[in-house]
Amino acid sequence: MSNLLGIGEALALVLERARALPAEDVPIGDAAGRVLAADAHAVTDLPPFDSSAMDGYAVRAADTPGLLSVVGHSAAGRPASRRVEQREAVEISTGAVVPEGADAVVPVERTKGEVEVEEVAAGENVRVRGGDVRAGDVVAAAGELLGPTQVGALAAAGVGVVSCARRPRAAVLATGTELRPPGSPLAAGEIYESNSVLLRAQLAEGGAVVEVLQSVSDDEAATRAAVERGLQADVLITSGGVSVGPHDLVRGVLADLGAEEIFWRVAVKPGKPIAFAVRDGTLVFGLPGNPVSSLVGFELYVRPALRALQGERDPGPRYASATLARTTPRNRDRDEFLRARREGDSLDPLEGQGSHMIVRAALANALVHIPRGDGEVGAGARVDYLSI
Ligand code: AMP
Ligand code: MG
Repeated sequence: MSNLLGIGEALALVLERARALPAEDVPIGDAAGRVLAADAHAVTDLPPFDSSAMDGYAVRAADTPGLLSVVGHSAAGRPASRRVEQREAVEISTGAVVPEGADAVVPVERTKGEVEVEEVAAGENVRVRGGDVRAGDVVAAAGELLGPTQVGALAAAGVGVVSCARRPRAAVLATGTELRPPGSPLAAGEIYESNSVLLRAQLAEGGAVVEVLQSVSDDEAATRAAVERGLQADVLITSGGVSVGPHDLVRGVLADLGAEEIFWRVAVKPGKPIAFAVRDGTLVFGLPGNPVSSLVGFELYVRPALRALQGERDPGPRYASATLARTTPRNRDRDEFLRARREGDSLDPLEGQGSHMIVRAALANALVHIPRGDGEVGAGARVDYLSI
């Protein structure tokens, strides 16, 4: 067994340092994708009044069936001016106030003329005041990620502004003399710079406000200047240059700039040489340059850190489980994350598991966790995976 840090220990060291950022007020129209910093309560009962579920006539159920006299109208936003007395009806539209005295609505399809109504039971077609939520009740709780349905619910309950941790500001810095931007020609020995593109998309998806810094070659002064700038963010993600080669400068530069290295190297494949450091509250993730290592490192540590910075209750990573389609050897020393295709309950690891094979990885929709150990995990075994 190796004595490297395990992925669980590494994640714990990250999350200890990823405290929720200060809260700010967010208009509800902008709040989808944000995390609540405080419980949000209904301002009103919902519905705020007994309202009609149908177009028809508001009546007293005890008067039905029968011939009733129509004494008024109740339209959405325009309540009737009088109550419903015995053998009376008020013409009513969907969403309108059920007038005092009435206890049911006869849908227009169950009426004739002005107005003969079929039988209805008390309460029929009436949406009861507060039937969805009561004023003062919690609509969404602190730590909850607001999706479209949640912001819709909060707006319906009268909440115009919510309190959310501010979004983390993230800087991305790709390092490597060989890197060229996609769209430009390659000279001998050069490759296209893809990690900042991948990381930017992951960070944005994770709720961060992203700044991609100009890539740097493996030059100490250039790396130092760029890292110094990136350290102004809440989260700095560097790509490449954290291994043991003579051109791997990132860790040394971070140390020179006063960042405290919390860990370096984790017992995981791909992504072993990851570095994690902090300076003045900035979390620094030194991700290895191989694109799939970067992808996996982000999912294992950075995405959960972003969630924690936004105050999310369960920062993850959020594993699900399914059935492994083919027998897979374990790595004795390192937990592995295999790129796999999940269909239904079946996880099929793809051909081409090299950590440089980002195009193969792009065919995957799951990272299958194969815990380190001896032997193999057999076809049909239940395994954990992360969706990608
Ligand atoms: P490094 O971690 O710097 O040793 O890089 C490991 C491998 O990843 C090398 O083959 C690099 O060329 C490649 N690599 C480094 N950075 C990037 C990047 N930003 N985009 C694509 N590949 C990269
Ligand atoms: Mg490099």
